[in-house]
Amino acid sequence: MKIKNMLQAVKGFLKRNVYALTVAFSVLAVFSVITALSVADLYKKKETIEPVQTIEQNDNNETEIVPTETNSVIVFESPVKDAVVCKDYCDDCLVEDKTTGVWKTHQAIDYCGAEGTEVYAVYDGKVIKVEKDVMNGTIVEIEHSEGLVSVYKSLGSALVSVGQNVKTGDAIGKMGVATNEKADGSHLHFEVKLNGKLVNPNNYLGEAGK
Ligand SMILES: [Zn+2]
Repeated sequence: MKIKNMLQAVKGFLKRNVYALTVAFSVLAVFSVITALSVADLYKKKETIEPVQTIEQNDNNETEIVPTETNSVIVFESPVKDAVVCKDYCDDCLVEDKTTGVWKTHQAIDYCGAEGTEVYAVYDGKVIKVEKDVMNGTIVEIEHSEGLVSVYKSLGSALVSVGQNVKTGDAIGKMGVATNEKADGSHLHFEVKLNGKLVNPNNYLGEAGK
């Protein structure tokens, strides 16, 4: 009997206060939605604000670039002054080779310039090859860190010798006309190798070299 009485009392209370209760529940519901949305927003903001850490402050308060999977620490300087790219890198498309008329890929960047235009080391390294090639003209190869090698072809002459250490910006050769790219005139055919494989030099060049 006691329980029945209590239930009836509760029922009576609900009936009398139906309006007030509805309002209270509605306010509660709206408040919950707002809270949920702002919490979600907070998480979203946290996700977008967090940067990919490539630049850090070291103990001496100097800025240090920290490598990530996609970013190399090495940034090449332009191999020529006032770069004029006359044939860009293209490994998934075919460009007509003016000399042979054959359509092929071009896994290098060609910089045009008058014969004798100086060509510079794109980064500190060691000269590992100086060669006069019948097809490619004079070739200079410089080994850098991180498995990178920069290759300079279509040179008329070399200004360095094998084993020599070079610094970024050192003159290493002069532009010439190579037999295999004769129709392109005097230029530098610039390649980059990563662990022995040709890669896109644009991935390593700073803005001045593109
Ligand atoms: Zn070329």
